[in-house]
Amino acid sequence: MGGVSTTLDDLPLRDDLRGLTPYGAPQAALPVALNVNENTHPVPEDVADDILDSIARALREINRYPDREFTALREGFADYLGHGLTRDEIWAGNGSNEVLQHLLQAFAGPGRTAFGFSPTYSMYPLLTRGTGARYVAGERGADYTLTASDAAAQVADVSPDVVFLCAPNNPTGTPLGLDVIEAVYDVTDGIVIVDEAYQEFAPREERSALTLLPGRERLVVSRTMSKAFAFAGARVGYLAAAPVVIDALRLVRLPYHLSALTQAAATAALRHTPTMLGMVDEIVAQRDRMSATLEALGYQPYESWTNFVLFSGVDDPAATWQALYDRGVLIRDVGIAHSLRVTAGTEDETTAFLDALASIESAA
Ligand SMILES: *Cc1c(COP(=O)(O)O)cnc(C)c1O
Repeated sequence: MGGVSTTLDDLPLRDDLRGLTPYGAPQAALPVALNVNENTHPVPEDVADDILDSIARALREINRYPDREFTALREGFADYLGHGLTRDEIWAGNGSNEVLQHLLQAFAGPGRTAFGFSPTYSMYPLLTRGTGARYVAGERGADYTLTASDAAAQVADVSPDVVFLCAPNNPTGTPLGLDVIEAVYDVTDGIVIVDEAYQEFAPREERSALTLLPGRERLVVSRTMSKAFAFAGARVGYLAAAPVVIDALRLVRLPYHLSALTQAAATAALRHTPTMLGMVDEIVAQRDRMSATLEALGYQPYESWTNFVLFSGVDDPAATWQALYDRGVLIRDVGIAHSLRVTAGTEDETTAFLDALASIESAA
């Protein structure tokens, strides 16, 4: 008892957590922050006022526990998603990260395996290992795409309990065909999670994986208010799945996991969906301008259906990242060779990034 613990190694930490590092996108107060795919447009003033009114009403009953079933919010998400969904098919949490964690707590855990196609969302392995499960990384083809036959073969080979399909994919922006989802679903007995965090930035005419839900009780489509809805700070994510999947998640959630304030804020925001999503077209326009200019500067942007662009052709990503940082622009080095990822910002922010990059001239 005499010594002072100075490192994690001195604690009786779970063996399977030793050596892991926490999620850690740098949070630096730079004038132009385009590193974590936030919506850089603030919530419009009149919507913010209405949300505040709802929060104020919830506050008057804050001595009571909130609605454990967050019924009004689930109805709001069912209405927003459409496709004939009802609240019995909706779940929500403090960010889609918590929703994914609930899924892993129910369907992964010790002795089980979760699977994703690298490079993909860095939280999948972290959340998986947090539940004591093993994470297996599959591979992508040219330009980070996936074909139905290749994806199905890799999943069949590993036979995972949970499969993550990020559609469109972070950090690459790559679209995912519905045929890939169908093929993967057909070769596994596990839960198939389609993470549609960026779906609102995809071309309007493209079908969501929500259209595949009928008849597929192991398919889950997760969404978030963090990106298109400009609500990252509120921490609200949700999913659609068969009612029996929702029942499974009730087994692992903490009681009253969604605070009354969160429920009030999110329900109010959903009443203003058209306004909240009003910036999506503008962001998509900035994303496409970014890609075109990156190409003109000699870089190779990958096709993106999201609010960010991954580009390669960077000689030394760490040096370019630092040079941009020194010019007040924060982007993301996602650890892919010769590549960097940048979020589409407002017109001014996007211009600031492109001008800063042009002034560095480090294209290979
Ligand atoms: C940003 C992101 C999320 C959203 O996480 P929240 O917890 O809802 O903020 C989920 N999945 C992917 C792939 C993301 O990029």
